[in-house]
Amino acid sequence: MKKIRIIIAGGGPVGVVAALACAQQGYAITLLEAEGKIDDSPRAATTHPSTLEMIARVGLIEPFIQEGLVARYFQFWDKPARAKIVEFDHDVLRDETPYPFVVQTEQHKLARMGIERLKTFADADVRFATRATGVSQDADSATVTAEGPNGSETFRGDYVIGADGGRSTIRKALDIEFEGFTWPERFLVLSTLDDFQELLTGCCYRNYLADPDEWTNLFKVAGDDGKGRWRAVFPTRVEESDEEALGDESTYSRLQRVFPLGRRYNVVHRNLYNVHQRVAATFRKGRVFLAGDSAHVNNSVGGLGLNGGIHDAIELAHSLHQVITKQAGDNLLNRYTRRRRTLNIEFVQEQTINNKKRLEERDSKARQARFDELRAIADEPARQKEFLLRTSLIASVRKAQSME
Ligand SMILES: Cc1cc2nc3c(=O)[nH]c(=O)nc-3n(C[C@H](O)[C@H](O)[C@H](O)COP(=O)(O)OP(=O)(O)OC[C@H]3O[C@@H](n4cnc5c(N)ncnc54)[C@H](O)[C@@H]3O)c2cc1C
Repeated sequence: MKKIRIIIAGGGPVGVVAALACAQQGYAITLLEAEGKIDDSPRAATTHPSTLEMIARVGLIEPFIQEGLVARYFQFWDKPARAKIVEFDHDVLRDETPYPFVVQTEQHKLARMGIERLKTFADADVRFATRATGVSQDADSATVTAEGPNGSETFRGDYVIGADGGRSTIRKALDIEFEGFTWPERFLVLSTLDDFQELLTGCCYRNYLADPDEWTNLFKVAGDDGKGRWRAVFPTRVEESDEEALGDESTYSRLQRVFPLGRRYNVVHRNLYNVHQRVAATFRKGRVFLAGDSAHVNNSVGGLGLNGGIHDAIELAHSLHQVITKQAGDNLLNRYTRRRRTLNIEFVQEQTINNKKRLEERDSKARQARFDELRAIADEPARQKEFLLRTSLIASVRKAQSME
């Protein structure tokens, strides 16, 4: 009997996890990645408990934890006062998940370890330097056209997953609207070898610093060498040019405003991102699906975007398996959009917009009210647990189970 083949466009973390989940269910996969290697620019690292459970399902949890940093706590700070407002402790979730903590593992490490695992499957065809250029389908199959090292190629399969990022060619080829908006400012990401735990007394691996003039997210990652480095994320001024934002003056003065070091910070990486809040109008057209950033993008405050993308990958692989093995009818694949689109809006879009607003609040009364609210949540165990069930997306997974 002909083996079912699933074609995945995009070898980012979502495409790789989707490919692995499909391969583990016995399907042949073709993974097409436009670039010659995995993109290792600093992006996602924060991986929440619900997502760790999914990474465990695809058999990668041990190396994933080993290559990252376990972050039990996260904190909110008043940046101008350089004062800690509140600390949340994931350990309150210990009866709810086997992973009552966040793991800070850079997304390129997940993609790389997934690619390594895919090599153990005889029917996994991984192609780098192969860019999907279009997609078509009929009643029985779906075909991706691509430009690879040998020129134009076509890849025919039973289903296609477009995990080709925010500018998704697959989404555009399907003419699916990417509904939402783009923030006027961009986010500047700086990586430094200076250790904020020695500088900002009492801070932890994940810190959100509220400031009406210039908020900061400050978190630690292991780095490829395992020696540790800090990432600081700042909003740019709306009118600031790329050169200005990435220049020495902007870089060093922004870090000095977090903590005045008295000498230059040792900055090892600078990057600038456009920031959007957008969700595709549908995540399915026939045999073709969207997952990850191709289906939804959001600001990075709270570290939810990739987490939501991995939830898509796991849900989609499971739904495809149920339909292929005739445990469910084709209609189950529409549930993928219903669940994942709705949950992205309710959990990821809503929280990230609110998180950003909380950090940048300008009105001093409203700012204090937000701090008071956080303190009240942290002070009451039941409220803290409810809050963390939501930030960790465990509540989203539970809600999915009740959605038909
Ligand atoms: C500064 C920053 C910090 C972030 N922090 C977090 C965080 O802590 N936690 C979190 O959950 N999220 C975070 N995010 C969001 C996260 O980075 C994204 O959600 C994540 O990268 C999505 O993964 P993906 O695989 O869907 O897309 P991508 O990572 O964009 O991967 C898409 C892949 O597809 C390839 N590709 C593109 N076009 C084609 C094509 N036509 N054919 C074939 N291949 C193609 C690309 O080369 C790429 O490898 C952050 C984002 C930023 C910018």
